[in-house]
Amino acid sequence: MTADTIRIAVPNKGRLQEPTLRLLRDAGLNFEVTDRSLTARVRNADIELLFVRAEDIPELVGDGVARLGITGQDLLAELSDDHELELLLDLGFGRCRLAAAVPHGSEVDKLEDLSGLRVATSHPRVVRGFFDDRGIDVGLVPLRGSIEVAPRLGVADAVVDLVSTGSTLIINGLREIGTILQSEAVLIARKGAGDGEGVRMATALQAVVAARGKRYILLNSPEHALGRIATLIPGLEAPTVVPLAEAGWVAVHSVVEADDVWRLLPALSEAGAKGILVLPIDQVLA
Ligand code: AMP
Repeated sequence: MTADTIRIAVPNKGRLQEPTLRLLRDAGLNFEVTDRSLTARVRNADIELLFVRAEDIPELVGDGVARLGITGQDLLAELSDDHELELLLDLGFGRCRLAAAVPHGSEVDKLEDLSGLRVATSHPRVVRGFFDDRGIDVGLVPLRGSIEVAPRLGVADAVVDLVSTGSTLIINGLREIGTILQSEAVLIARKGAGDGEGVRMATALQAVVAARGKRYILLNSPEHALGRIATLIPGLEAPTVVPLAEAGWVAVHSVVEADDVWRLLPALSEAGAKGILVLPIDQVLA
């Protein structure tokens, strides 16, 4: 480790760990993670990974212990007041929401109804800011875990907790009444520390995140159908068109949104395309 080594703080366990390691590997970083080791050297770059709890990452990046960090946007919002932190990139996984919920029997129907009630949460700063902004006076009960049992224990009337599918709330007899914050995994850095290396790393990760939502499409088209087909798959700039060995035919290559593939395939076929191939893309830099 030298002064130039970029240290990236990444979650050592929990929901964000596995997708974070996959993202770094998909970006081309070559490293091995051994059980219980606090750090890992990247073999093909001057980078060290520091494995710590997701909730400690904003502080470690804020203090300069790590140059970059990957954590939840909810944790950045909760902890960034103490540190001058900057969100460099949304990473497209770890999606969840910070939602308010009440027991099924409760008369509370909307967030405004929480006025004067006690709210248990692991994100007291975000929740305080949200309700203060709306002039709703709630009593906060800060808890570290098992927020959803607080109403049953009689310590709170409502909870504000992280939810992805909502099934944990249902299992605990809770009904969702509103969203406080949307979250996903993010790449963070200290404000103003957007140095060349940090920005380059963000670009490398962005190329992977962007590629996950795209597909490469190849097809053969009769020349007379090219206009219609090019309109359907315009690509990043314009589709690549190359002649086939057979007169009157061309091959068309383009990049499309993964979400649109199901709609495009029948449309391309109807337009006259043959031999349509759809391939994944590892990285894309527009
Ligand atoms: P963990 O380390 O598993 O406690 O998760 C830490 C982070 O994972 C949270 O701060 C969120 O950013 C993210 N996350 C994604 N989905 C969920 C979920 N359903 N419940 C809790 N955290 C989630």
